Amino acid sequence: MDYEDNEEGQLNVFQRQGSMESEFICGCCSDLLIQPTTLTCGHSFCRLCLAQWFTQSRKRTCPFCQQAYLGCPGVNITIKNLIEKSYSRKLSEREVEVRSVENEELIRKFEQSLQGVAQTTGSQNRLQGNVFQNVGNLRFQGFCSGICVMGGIILLLYLVMFWRNSGSDLLIHKPPIRWSTNDVVQWLTDLGSWTVDYRMEAMRNEIDGRLLVAADNASLETILNVTNVLHKKAISNAIWQLKEFNMKLPGSLWEYKVIESLSNRKPSAML
Ligand SMILES: [Zn+2]
Ligand SMILES: [Zn+2]
Repeated sequence: MDYEDNEEGQLNVFQRQGSMESEFICGCCSDLLIQPTTLTCGHSFCRLCLAQWFTQSRKRTCPFCQQAYLGCPGVNITIKNLIEKSYSRKLSEREVEVRSVENEELIRKFEQSLQGVAQTTGSQNRLQGNVFQNVGNLRFQGFCSGICVMGGIILLLYLVMFWRNSGSDLLIHKPPIRWSTNDVVQWLTDLGSWTVDYRMEAMRNEIDGRLLVAADNASLETILNVTNVLHKKAISNAIWQLKEFNMKLPGSLWEYKVIESLSNRKPSAML
């Protein structure tokens, strides 16, 4: 009993004098703090008093200075421990005083509301984060698309260059029967500079591979206007080779190499 009186005495002293222990007094009920909850402004209140204030005002502000607070402030463990050490008796009394199902429900709803707000804020932040992330992804995807387009263009250019530079190579891979007029002209060019007039004739008469391989000594004069006996013999011989091997014989070192890799037959054996 003496202890209780002494404790009461202490309380009265700090209540009256506003001494250091006023940190243990609730700004709402002016009594010993129960479940002391400190807001961002620094003011502390009983958790129940704060819940009542929130329920009545629907404001997330300090009941004393009206400063808004964020999130769901927890119980101030330091103040709670100090009160338990210094004013255990008074604290027990106060706890019995305020303990009720209604008050517990009030605190529960208050905490739920604050946590809901905190979660909404959190999800908003996450949403913003996602938006930024999506923008980042879009930028990254744009960058990748750019790289792909550039790669595609480079590949296309390379293929065009390869196709243009490999006309004669294509010719040795292509059966003469499928040659176009340009292929026939290319073939005549490979035979030598003496075929220049016959190339013109081939172009003019649109001689393709099918017509070429069907030509004999007599028709050569008609389709390519070959009158020179030696020329006629040379072209006839070349056409015979085309028919015999169903391909253009290699005319350059690279074409020889390609043929060697394709067949074991040696060009000398063919001739
Ligand atoms: Zn209070
Ligand atoms: Zn305040």
